[in-house]
Amino acid sequence: MEVRVRYAPSPTGLQHIGGVRTALYNYFFARSQGGKFILRIEDTDRERYSDESLQDLYDTLDWLGIKWDEGPVVGGPCGPYIQSERLEIYQKYARKLVEDGKAYYCYCTPERLEKLRQEQQASKSRYQGYDRHCASLSEEERRAAEEAGIKPVIRLRVPTEGKTTFHDVLMGDITRKNSDVSPDPVLLKSDGYPTYHLANVIDDHLMGITHIMRAQEWIPSGPLHILLYEAFGWQPPVYCHLPMVCGKDGQKLSKRHGDTAVRDFRAKGYLPEAILNYVTLVGWSLDGSREFFTREELEKCFVLENIHVSSGTFDYKKLDWFNGQYIRQKSDEEIISLITPYLQSAGFVSQEPDEEEKARLALLAPLLRERMKVLSDAVPLSAFLFEDRPVTDKSVYIAKGMDEAQTRMALERGSAIIIANERAGVSFADSETEIKALAEEMGIKVNGIFQPVRVAITNSTVSLPLHDSIRLLGLEETEKRIERAKALFNN
Ligand code: GLU
Ligand code: ZN
Repeated sequence: MEVRVRYAPSPTGLQHIGGVRTALYNYFFARSQGGKFILRIEDTDRERYSDESLQDLYDTLDWLGIKWDEGPVVGGPCGPYIQSERLEIYQKYARKLVEDGKAYYCYCTPERLEKLRQEQQASKSRYQGYDRHCASLSEEERRAAEEAGIKPVIRLRVPTEGKTTFHDVLMGDITRKNSDVSPDPVLLKSDGYPTYHLANVIDDHLMGITHIMRAQEWIPSGPLHILLYEAFGWQPPVYCHLPMVCGKDGQKLSKRHGDTAVRDFRAKGYLPEAILNYVTLVGWSLDGSREFFTREELEKCFVLENIHVSSGTFDYKKLDWFNGQYIRQKSDEEIISLITPYLQSAGFVSQEPDEEEKARLALLAPLLRERMKVLSDAVPLSAFLFEDRPVTDKSVYIAKGMDEAQTRMALERGSAIIIANERAGVSFADSETEIKALAEEMGIKVNGIFQPVRVAITNSTVSLPLHDSIRLLGLEETEKRIERAKALFNN
């Protein structure tokens, strides 16, 4: 049997880490099994739908290099793959359930339902939800309601007795009493739109889905879906509800923890390889130790059984580390083309870089590659070259454990060594040896010397290696900045 899985997002917001992980697991599972990965757009909630979200979905999958075998744009034998284009299908199947006595028309007005809700709340009744008022309308009552022009909804007849069980690959059997399933949920709304449950079940069946991999938050819908499959007389697919993605505090990952939208990670300069690799590891592992996987490798070795049962922790620091590792693997040319847009939007490089700018980028690229965690780090790390914003706050120059007088001395003597050696073309290792000796003589740490020199030259405490910064800046400009810092301390 061919494996057929789907990613079925609702375009009601930006693609976030959790959603993308669901997409990746489905995609990798399909690929590793030689099956099909289907993209289905669940856009029946028209109030929350947005074009921007749909575009963001396409952009995100595209950026990650995830191609769907069937779905919007590419089409396929079970289309259309956008639910709002399938309304007639849902209507037909909902009517079929009514004909078979598994569902019924409900003519209750919103006012009646609201009143019911308030009464139930006030009486603190154990029974909450629809009271099955229309479950047994007579033919006359029905006709009268139709003639009064009331547009009905269609509700599923949920059995009041018994239990429903479904099996989940990771969680085992999950059983609910039918009396705990929401009483007679709406399947088709009065405007002819299906609810999530109806459309989801019909589509999974008609699209031949064999495995459902989706977020654990959908587990409560499981019994209802099983009841729907039973009502239709269909075989449910295999379920595999995915563990949650949590922040370090064990709470579901949310904006409180940091960025969650993939678009924001992308904007900051995370590489798709790093996101794809790291996100896959949040809740899955091959052997518990291997960390690096390319997309192609995961397409071969992803196994369902290795998905963790407990929730996964999304560690922003770990992602930074992965990203740094992937950045270091890039060639000079790749780095140049990756950082150029960031430097352009900072106004450091022109839209059509000239030869001089290109030469500078070529010098910068290998240095930045070793230092960046994210591509946007290129901006602060190279700012000293493109603009000159001297640090006028003395405390920034003063390293831990140092005072102002010591720092003035360290700046003066340290920079004299470095400049003299740079001018003489002596290797920077020699400068470092001399600086070490000076630090010893002064009874301070080397950073007490390097920090003020670094801030003087690069206008920042975090920078490219000092020697490289001087080389990029030129000796003349370097000396000018040193003199300026010395002046600051001599005032
Ligand atoms: N449209 C649902 C969502 O946005 C799909 C849930 C499912 O995969 O069944 O998550
Ligand atoms: Zn009713």
